[in-house]
Amino acid sequence: MLPPSWQNKPVTFPERAVEIDLAALRHNIRHLRDVAAPARVMAVVKADAYGHGAIPVARAALEAGAAWLGVAHISEGVALRRAGIEAPILAWLHTSHSDFVAGVEHGLDLGISGWELDHVVAAARELERPAIVHLKIDTGLGRNGCPAQEWDELLGRAVGYQDEGVLRVVGIFSHLATADEPARPETDRQVELFREAVTAAENAGIDVEIRHLANTPATFSRPDCHFDLVRVGLGIYGLSPFADQGSAELGLRPVMTFSATVSTCKEVPGGQGVSYGHAYRTHEATTLGLIPVGYGDGVPRIATGAPVLVGERIYPVVGRIAMDQLVIDFGATGLVDSPESPLGKRAVLFGGGQAPAVEDWAAAAQTINYEIVTRISDRVERVHLHVDDAGDAGDAGDAGSNGAPSGASAADDAGVDDDARA
Ligand SMILES: *Cc1c(COP(=O)(O)O)cnc(C)c1O
Repeated sequence: MLPPSWQNKPVTFPERAVEIDLAALRHNIRHLRDVAAPARVMAVVKADAYGHGAIPVARAALEAGAAWLGVAHISEGVALRRAGIEAPILAWLHTSHSDFVAGVEHGLDLGISGWELDHVVAAARELERPAIVHLKIDTGLGRNGCPAQEWDELLGRAVGYQDEGVLRVVGIFSHLATADEPARPETDRQVELFREAVTAAENAGIDVEIRHLANTPATFSRPDCHFDLVRVGLGIYGLSPFADQGSAELGLRPVMTFSATVSTCKEVPGGQGVSYGHAYRTHEATTLGLIPVGYGDGVPRIATGAPVLVGERIYPVVGRIAMDQLVIDFGATGLVDSPESPLGKRAVLFGGGQAPAVEDWAAAAQTINYEIVTRISDRVERVHLHVDDAGDAGDAGDAGSNGAPSGASAADDAGVDDDARA
């Protein structure tokens, strides 16, 4: 016999999936446009849009008014072009393996820190088409970007190529190190060096159309960093970069909901060891629920104790998280045969509304919200909701429609489009 919770009940949510609410994403883009105006918004969709699915996210971001897309690798930009996306795309992280010919051929703008310049020019010559570049100055992050003492030389080389007609420098950019901690002084110094780098470029004869420095935290906390364009990743996914402010305080709506179906529910006595190593033992008789996601799905193995919403209550992950599954403790008995049996119900690890926040999982895993969403593995299906802009109804939808606490899921929504599943 089917357990009570399965009787007469169509399954209205995916077995195991991350749902990506593109209406929330569009809301976030529009909000960020307001925050950044008159600067424009680059939606950063590297790393498969921080795990949200680069192609549907890029399309929705552009629909909502993002002017640019940003990726790390040329290959990521080429994939967007192959999907038919024609908006400006900037790719900024290259190696000797990078296919600069493909980059130029597909009309990507390329970020240049130094050595790449000659490779990009070689590609431009081969294609008989000028490369479009943004020169990157290292104003203090200490990763890529041209060191300040080599900036004039890079400008000189770029101007030489530009005069030859094989290159066009349209932008100057840099990346911030500490903008998520607005009280720190390093950002002031970075802004100052950035302004100097732009002035030097202008003095070298470059017509700097697009200056860009801000990431998500600087977009919110440092209007002096907005310049012509802000490069926003985390914020478009509805997450806060600040330790002391959540999504709602920034006017953002979390886009990703990670849920799975409770696959086993059973009563155990006190003293029952749970999962490998018996790192947890029940204190007294209780009911355990098995959730079929684990580190093979990108759930951090160290996140024991993290919260999971089932029905209207939050339960902790107990014992070790395994490759395929994790266990939660319902802390009660008598559930198994009751009409309230959790078996077959939806378990939400994180999402909007009443669901735990991505930040709760980040805290349990001693990491940041960026990593939690980005690391969800390909084993987990991405289901894109509200793919069609028409049902968007402005910002009227409430954030709570995501991560619905009872069985009902946003996946019921007519906005689900199979073709858009990435
Ligand atoms: C990833 C990245 C961003 C976006 O950062 P967020 O903090 O997610 O907004 C912006 N610029 C560069 C160069 C990046 O690598």
